[in-house]
Amino acid sequence: MKNKPTIKATILVVEDTPANMALATLILEKAGYAVLQAANAADGIALARADVPGLIMMDIQLPGMSGLEATRILKADPVTRAIPVIAMTAFAMKGDEEKMLAAGCDGYLAKPIHYKDLVAVVAARLGMP
Ligand code: MN
Repeated sequence: MKNKPTIKATILVVEDTPANMALATLILEKAGYAVLQAANAADGIALARADVPGLIMMDIQLPGMSGLEATRILKADPVTRAIPVIAMTAFAMKGDEEKMLAAGCDGYLAKPIHYKDLVAVVAARLGMP
């Protein structure tokens, strides 16, 4: 008997690089999550407001509005402020973590994206086993 796997939660991935989007989506779906995709901050904010996902993976370097600015907007909006936001960036330097926390990010994932790291940070934030 084949049952559809239960979806653990819906995760919004905001990421402009197609290869990173494809990888994050593959990993999260394999781990049992439903994935919403946005390739820029404006689309990400609109999807977050419309669908209120359980968690957001937010690329910091986006065309136009940055992921940090998008996070500030989400955290100022009563509809979206409770959604955990995990920042993703390859360029974490001294001071960057403080900037991410100041913008309201709830966590941080270093790129390149690895299966175990992504699943662990999401599961920890959502309280999944
Ligand atoms: Mn990017």
